[in-house]
Amino acid sequence: MMRAGPSQEDVRRHNLGTLLRFVHLRGPASRATLAESLGLNRSTIMALTADLTAAGLVREELPRGPGRRAGRPSLVVRPESTRVYVLAFEVGVDRLVIARVGLGGVVLDRREAARTRGSDPAEIVGTLAAGARSLVRKSERDAVCVGAALGFPGTVRRADDAIRFGPNLDIGDFPLGDALSRRLGLGLPVSVCNDANLGALAEHGRGAGVGCDNLIYLHGDVGVGGGIIAHGRLLSGDEGYGGEIGHMVVNPGGRPCACGSRGCLEAEVGERTLLAHADREEAPGQSGRDAVRAVVDAADRGDIVAREALHRVGTWLGFGVANLVNVLNPGLVVFGGTLRDIYLGAAAQIRSVLATGALAAPREKVRLRTAALGDDTTLVGAAEFAFADVLADPIQVLARLRAPEDSRVH
Ligand SMILES: [Zn+2]
Repeated sequence: MMRAGPSQEDVRRHNLGTLLRFVHLRGPASRATLAESLGLNRSTIMALTADLTAAGLVREELPRGPGRRAGRPSLVVRPESTRVYVLAFEVGVDRLVIARVGLGGVVLDRREAARTRGSDPAEIVGTLAAGARSLVRKSERDAVCVGAALGFPGTVRRADDAIRFGPNLDIGDFPLGDALSRRLGLGLPVSVCNDANLGALAEHGRGAGVGCDNLIYLHGDVGVGGGIIAHGRLLSGDEGYGGEIGHMVVNPGGRPCACGSRGCLEAEVGERTLLAHADREEAPGQSGRDAVRAVVDAADRGDIVAREALHRVGTWLGFGVANLVNVLNPGLVVFGGTLRDIYLGAAAQIRSVLATGALAAPREKVRLRTAALGDDTTLVGAAEFAFADVLADPIQVLARLRAPEDSRVH
């Protein structure tokens, strides 16, 4: 039997998603630009735009600013950022962040709270839910929340958005997605993802990796996380645990790791290790990004101990990157979090290890860069993850969400 090709309806749904994704990621665009970029004719673009406008996802406007030409101006298709939004959450080692992010990636509003090391999961859920509800209350009357996602520094089971392992937060098995969804009471599931996986999505969509479909994102804080984009998609593995680059062993028999193993990349290049090498472990208030920056600054000023510490950490990081380059042949490796500072301080050492540790062919074109989204990679990635459903099938998803409250399945 021959397989049926895509129906007209499938094609339309695909095109609606493609157009919406384009203005979501690249910003407002004229019909002419859309036609050219998406390879569709003007009348198709007009029909798709009309459907998306009727659904309240985009609006057409006269172009703003100095780009206007004389004559009849071409209308610009703009995402409805204040009417269509997602909730994005970040659980960090030291902070909790909640944001309302509009279509187009506009952060409409955000709340941030310090997380005291040792707070339990119920406290975290309570703080996040209360913050999110106050943001939702401030949204416009006709605004619709189309998704919610959370970034977490640990391993997360994709099937049920449950935490499996969060060593740096002392959280073991916990159904974080379900618990937060229930406390929010919006009738929406909350997707939970590894924070560095989200960082990879964010840098690919809006940061240093735009246009590069094979990239690796490495994120450092207390631990080291990783995210792999292959052929434009996040490589999540069989159950969602993929990309744990921080637990790749680079130094067998090396320093003990929070996971129970030894010589993991995380154990050799994490915040605590750098501070230990630099003899700054015991200094009061010496932890986090500021402490890592202080070591890099001291090395820049010629401090021998700081230089040696960066050199050691840079060597292990170089081995890690060399292994990744050999296995995955990325076009780009992006360093975020504390690894951004470490990369800036140890780039020469990392490149020198890469020159001998990686095969010549995959090494030739690989670029090493710092994250473009700074400290918001996780949050931006969570928003992108939360938008995925509506971008895949805009009209259906919105119709379902706008349906009267009592007809929804709870
Ligand atoms: Zn480990």
